[in-house]
Amino acid sequence: MPNNADLLSRSRAAVWHPCTQMKRHEILPLVPIAHGNGVWLYDQEGGRFLDAVSSWWVNLFGHCNPRINAALIDQLGKLEHVMLAGFTHEPVVQLSERLAQLAPAGLGHCFYASDGASATEIALKMSAHFWRNSGQPDKTDFISLQNSYHGETLGALSVTDVALFKDAYGALIKHNATLPSPDWRDAAQGESAAHYALRCATELEAHLQQHHQHIAAFIIEPLVQGAAGMAMYHPAYLSRARALCNHYHVHLIADEIAVGMGRTGTLFACEQAAISPDFLLLSKGITGGYLPLSVVMTHDIIYQAFYADDVARGFLHSHSYTGNPLACRAALATLDIFAEDDVLRVNRGKADYFNHIAAPLRDHPKVKHFRNSGMIWAFEVDSPHADFAQRCFSLALQHEILLRPMGNTVYFMPPYVISEAEMDLLLARTLLVIEQLS
Ligand SMILES: *Cc1c(COP(=O)(O)O)cnc(C)c1O
Repeated sequence: MPNNADLLSRSRAAVWHPCTQMKRHEILPLVPIAHGNGVWLYDQEGGRFLDAVSSWWVNLFGHCNPRINAALIDQLGKLEHVMLAGFTHEPVVQLSERLAQLAPAGLGHCFYASDGASATEIALKMSAHFWRNSGQPDKTDFISLQNSYHGETLGALSVTDVALFKDAYGALIKHNATLPSPDWRDAAQGESAAHYALRCATELEAHLQQHHQHIAAFIIEPLVQGAAGMAMYHPAYLSRARALCNHYHVHLIADEIAVGMGRTGTLFACEQAAISPDFLLLSKGITGGYLPLSVVMTHDIIYQAFYADDVARGFLHSHSYTGNPLACRAALATLDIFAEDDVLRVNRGKADYFNHIAAPLRDHPKVKHFRNSGMIWAFEVDSPHADFAQRCFSLALQHEILLRPMGNTVYFMPPYVISEAEMDLLLARTLLVIEQLS
């Protein structure tokens, strides 16, 4: 019978864990997970943890969801994988058709990859290549927002503004401009979120006016800037950005890798600004948190610019597992659950309930900027501890909850299957943790 301690030491020796200073694991133990069920993760010795961050924002309908499991078992008996160059299969076609029906208007072409960063790379390459194919080869720059996060490959880092992830690789990365984030926490005293969003958009306008000849695309996380600490902003910024990008012939790339699939209350965050981007990026929740899959959706004008007799005009990008049938089936099962269970409506009820019971947290003297968008909640904690994030993570685990604060920002991004009783537990335990750390 394996025990926790055994797995921990073997993991430390053989596995290089992501986003981790490995030396920290001399004091901070890894958490060994043996199985999962619903919002709960279980270790090998009977310990349990409520997965309040959906395992890095990917899980939507709980761990080991019976319906997604059944779809995958069915697909395993038919076809596990086939290359997508020169071949096709029912799951990838169905998924593309259904996404096109659900997404903002016009995004009828789906290009697949396996992770979010690759989706960013694809959108950047497709955008610049579009301009080259259209006789404007000088449009090769990109712009993004301050505190943006679009992934950690070298191209994606060139539009990511998180110093901790970027500084060591500065010499390897193309320099792109960043523009003020409409994050409402930065609004002036008494200024509304919408007013601040439009004020930030005037700086976007000034930049585009001056540099549009060299700019291929503006990439943005709609409504919530996730990895920079769940910064939220008013949809007016997106509407204005769409209009400005149209005016200055710059593509708008909506990175909905984190906020898509219902996270902000609508299936896609762009819906709240009633806009359609030139590229829509999805990953994370698209397979319900089961398998790596990402997709770049775009419209026919982009597609047609690559459609020619000349091979080099085509988009020759590829990944070995592009359009993997198992991942596509998990995504189809995920879309089925959205439709069958009226998930967006049910989530509105859940969010109302959580906002109601969260009053003691919102009003806590050490809690600032309590905010919510759909099934995302975040707040800052005033704490004397410089290593607040690490302490909070450890203490929360002792209280059976998985929180992964970013600096002093604590957030909840639970699987949508969370029950009212589980929300009660999450809130009560979080309050205990905050009490102990503030
Ligand atoms: C997570 C994330 C990415 C990168 O996705 P990976 O699968 O981790 O490469 C890109 N953009 C946003 C907004 C994300 O949240």
